[in-house]
Amino acid sequence: MTVDNSIRRRGLMLILSSPSGAGKTTLTRDLLQLGHLSLSISVTTRPRRASEIEGVHYHFIEKDEFLFQRDRGDLLEWAEVHGNLYGTPRKPVEETLAGGRDMVFDVDWQGTLQILEKMRDDAVTVFILPPSLRELRTRLERRAEDSTEVINQRLVNAREEIGHWNAYDYVIVNDDLDHAFRALQSILAAERLKRLRRTGLAGFVNDLLAQEG
Ligand code: 5GP
Repeated sequence: MTVDNSIRRRGLMLILSSPSGAGKTTLTRDLLQLGHLSLSISVTTRPRRASEIEGVHYHFIEKDEFLFQRDRGDLLEWAEVHGNLYGTPRKPVEETLAGGRDMVFDVDWQGTLQILEKMRDDAVTVFILPPSLRELRTRLERRAEDSTEVINQRLVNAREEIGHWNAYDYVIVNDDLDHAFRALQSILAAERLKRLRRTGLAGFVNDLLAQEG
């Protein structure tokens, strides 16, 4: 690790939003493979898809349990998306950031706005757009995990999600996965260097100035 990278800092929240099928899941997976990042695992009342694993992709819970957690204040944010409830457990976020680790969030625009209200300085928000709606449909059909009815509903919802693009710090058009991934890495690299979240910087500079040149 370089001296620059070893200066203590608070972790950041990398918030990714996009309509389903824009490539967010793949980009998130690739980011996690880089290391130094944890994934926030949401709770949801949505039924598990065949490819999903409990505790890896989501914590799949009943609606009663969801409402209980929400009312007890356990969720940092929550929203209803496509008729199901989704929420971000608060405790892992607080522990991860305090430990100087960064966290990736896959939340919709409603969740992003709630996080921005509560934790603006920690949040870095990125919206991922598909190159076209036709391409979005193709990607959803290729995934072949949802019925035609669900896909059509997701396309209707995609328009609404896309309508919130201008609440985000960064916008990436994912017409090429490699380009989009490089753009995300650049955002992360720059945001990690932000003076305000580098709590160890003042001490480092003091030590530097105390040295004889
Ligand atoms: P999916 O059912 O395809 O996994 O996710 C549907 C939508 O729910 C996606 O847009 C995703 O970003 C959003 N989502 C997933 N987890 C959360 C969460 O914890 N909070 C909020 N607000 N949205 C979420």
